Amino acid sequence: MEAICPECDAKVVVESEPKIGHRVICRSCKSVLTVIRLLPLELDWAFVEPFEDTPSDDGRERAARAG
Ligand SMILES: [Zn+2]
Repeated sequence: MEAICPECDAKVVVESEPKIGHRVICRSCKSVLTVIRLLPLELDWAFVEPFEDTPSDDGRERAARAG
């Protein structure tokens, strides 16, 4: 299957049975893309998610330690 790179409009070849969230790299511009839709096949930029930067509600725990 083929999709269009949102960055450079080049054709990006995706494996025969892509899944939502499947990552592909545009050979033209080297952008890391992710499958966001299957029919029709659509790609979007893959956002790099920070691993340990997710703000959680551990604020209380910190306050307890500080106190
Ligand atoms: Zn591209």
